Amino acid sequence: MQQQSNIPQTKPIILVDIDDTLNVFSKVYWAIHNQAFEDNVHPDNVNQWDLDLFSNRGLEAYQLFKIPGLFRHIPVKEHAQTFIEDLQDIGEVYMVSDVPRGTSYGEIVEFQNINYPIQHAHSNPADDKRAWIKEHFPNFPKENVIFCSCKWMIYGDILIDDKPNTFIEFQKRGRDVILIDMLYNRHIDTKWRARDLQEAKEMVVELLAAKENVICNL
Ligand SMILES: [Mg+2]
Repeated sequence: MQQQSNIPQTKPIILVDIDDTLNVFSKVYWAIHNQAFEDNVHPDNVNQWDLDLFSNRGLEAYQLFKIPGLFRHIPVKEHAQTFIEDLQDIGEVYMVSDVPRGTSYGEIVEFQNINYPIQHAHSNPADDKRAWIKEHFPNFPKENVIFCSCKWMIYGDILIDDKPNTFIEFQKRGRDVILIDMLYNRHIDTKWRARDLQEAKEMVVELLAAKENVICNL
């Protein structure tokens, strides 16, 4: 007879990045960048993480993060909603995302030549991201959103992310992380590289199935 474990089973905690994991941030960013700075950078040529290396304005490229509403209007990736719902069936899902500083205390950053639906005088990337989540994932619990730069400090069983440094730091601590394939993270050699969200979901299932005391029914 099989021995029953008295250890209560808890749902695994799955952390999911937002920019370029659930949305198409890079595509939107470079389109705006090229308009604002009359440049011609194609996202398909951006093979390193640091944007300033590819911009004709160098570090000024990061000023574009202060465009009011930038993070509010980025298109969601295809099947992202189903992806999150499927993960919620098998785990406790948290969206984890970094947020740049917006503008406040009377600071106004003006950009010329930008065709983007600017709706506010000042930018607030955290509120923009919360509103974006509410629009595209209306049933996602607002308590399960964590804004943080050092995602490897967040407790969780699996992280899904595209940023090279985040992948390395999370993995370095012996934890499972799935890398969303982007040109700027191709230097990382891993079997946990997902070309799309469907593949990422399959990897989550595979990783969880390998863990003890986790039942996976996907
Ligand atoms: Mg990202």
